Amino acid sequence: MSKCAWCGRPIIWIRGPDGKRMPIENGFTPYKRHDGRGWCNKLYTGAGGVIECIILPEDRADEADGFAHMFHVCPKKPSYHRPRPLTRREKFKAQYE
Ligand SMILES: [Zn+2]
Repeated sequence: MSKCAWCGRPIIWIRGPDGKRMPIENGFTPYKRHDGRGWCNKLYTGAGGVIECIILPEDRADEADGFAHMFHVCPKKPSYHRPRPLTRREKFKAQYE
């Protein structure tokens, strides 16, 4: 089990869809499957798969279609770790949405 270097929470390192290592939460988050329309959340499997879904609050876990890991958004990570800039393809897409 790894711990986040900044906040100390237990995390799991997986290889994300782009092949880069990324931290996910050790705990499981309940979700409902996404119907393909509009906004959705993303959760991750321990094997690095991405699940497009709607995250449920813990008290609605009995309605869940499944459980997966949330990306570790660190509350203590220094701010110089900014998200990567958009790729050309994403910029192009953003213009038409
Ligand atoms: Zn952290």
